[in-house]
Amino acid sequence: MSTKGIAMNPETLDTQIAVVGAGAAGLAAAVAAAENAADVILLEKRSSPGGNAARAEGLLAAESPVQKRFKIDAQRDVIFRIAMDHAHWKLDPRIVRTFVDRSADTIQWLEDKGVVFSRVPHYYPNQRIRTWHLLSRGGIELVEILVKNGQDLGVRMLKETTAKRLLTDGKGNITGVMADTQEGEFKITAKSVIIATGGYAGNKELLKKYCPQYNENMFCGGLPYTGDGLLMAIEAGAATEGLGLIQFSGHAVPGAPVDLVAVADELNTVWVNKKGERFTDEATSYHRFESINAVIRQPDSFCYTLFDERIKQNIIEKGIIKGVGTVIPPRTKLTGLGKALELEADKGNVRIAGSWDEIAKWIGIKPAVLKATIDEYNAFCDDGYDRLFAKDRRYLDALRTPPYYALRCYPRFLSTIGGIKINHRMEVLDNNDNPIPGLYAAGVDTGGWETDTYNAILSGTTFAFSVNSGRIAAENAARYMMGE
Ligand SMILES: Cc1cc2nc3c(=O)[nH]c(=O)nc-3n(C[C@H](O)[C@H](O)[C@H](O)COP(=O)(O)OP(=O)(O)OC[C@H]3O[C@@H](n4cnc5c(N)ncnc54)[C@H](O)[C@@H]3O)c2cc1C
Repeated sequence: MSTKGIAMNPETLDTQIAVVGAGAAGLAAAVAAAENAADVILLEKRSSPGGNAARAEGLLAAESPVQKRFKIDAQRDVIFRIAMDHAHWKLDPRIVRTFVDRSADTIQWLEDKGVVFSRVPHYYPNQRIRTWHLLSRGGIELVEILVKNGQDLGVRMLKETTAKRLLTDGKGNITGVMADTQEGEFKITAKSVIIATGGYAGNKELLKKYCPQYNENMFCGGLPYTGDGLLMAIEAGAATEGLGLIQFSGHAVPGAPVDLVAVADELNTVWVNKKGERFTDEATSYHRFESINAVIRQPDSFCYTLFDERIKQNIIEKGIIKGVGTVIPPRTKLTGLGKALELEADKGNVRIAGSWDEIAKWIGIKPAVLKATIDEYNAFCDDGYDRLFAKDRRYLDALRTPPYYALRCYPRFLSTIGGIKINHRMEVLDNNDNPIPGLYAAGVDTGGWETDTYNAILSGTTFAFSVNSGRIAAENAARYMMGE
């Protein structure tokens, strides 16, 4: 699977199934299609496959062989109900059910290919169900194994080849895709096309159009995709569903090293808005996908994370309480934190000061306002009770030891979710809810399976949905190819 599009520049290529995007969904789709005896061309815009999947950590499954080995109770009915209840049943239950029911088989499918799932840990303490299947080498392991598997099965991957638009026969049937390389456009004719281009997180125009929450203070921690699949599908007559969901992942100083990502929403820090007011229980950041909603509600959707020298020293000497997924596990000692803070202070994103008055001036508020906020919080810490937001007393640490630290933090997001309307067979639907013959979509390009906030209770949902929906799309595309 490694033909480079720019080296070939043919006028037309012919295949049975064209898959657009070699990330989680596209790689799974290409391999599954080839396993179903289809001739497959896989188009990848970038110079290497993997997309955001290469950086993901783990995927969800219910009643998987790994969960069974670890004696983890994760019943598919319970997981299905949690997914639907969390979304107030605004999702397509057939899509969710199909995905959850297929998830165990997908873990087996991946294990059979050599993927090693090392653990199924809690994503946060007391998590009700353990669903997050961690890959021993992270998402890159899945990517490498599926690329190799596809190669063995004869999948032709065209790198640095961008799908531009879908081809139709004038009667509404999909007949292929136009591709673009540095050397020009060419046509790929296909019986069906599977779209899996990873969303539109890098397309500010689409973010502004579809996502009411979005503003330019927010920054993308994933790949800056341009929404190619969504736009192509709409042009071909696809309906949309679930547009507007951004997969936020906490708040952070844009561009700062990961140590500061961990500190920005550490449980015992204090967060204030630009008026100097505390606005939430900071310990909600165990669910950083949810705690960010409180930040987004604030004026201009940003906040300052405050802490003192004692908290900083504890993070260095005893370790961070929460951390960031598997990248910074809980209790990691962030020995480089002091240096990282100084570097960001030099850039103007962090303020280190001997008094809260100085921090208040940097924020641009009256010192008395910030003093009142800190005094109130410190009194809550002394009482062991947060009268405002009932924060867990274990994370109530008074801020009294100078120097004091303030980080200017903005919402960080990984990707968008939602867009192309599909059914549980991953067929793309038109505005009358009828499948567009020959068109399938998978991964985060699609809607109907996740609501306004990423459901961290079911950790690993997006990665898992992408792989599972890719497989399901391919199997149905293969059936369509056979005239079934
Ligand atoms: C840092 C990070 C950590 C994450 N951790 C987790 C986790 O632990 N668990 C979890 O559930 N989710 C996680 N995610 C999310 C997960 O990675 C995504 O949900 C998943 O990769 C989406 O799969 P996809 O196939 O839709 O998109 P991607 O995997 O991003 O793949 C899209 C592919 O399409 C290609 N493409 C785009 N446009 C075109 C075009 N026009 N022509 C050809 N190719 C094109 C892209 O280059 C890319 O290769 C994480 C994301 C990030 C950024």
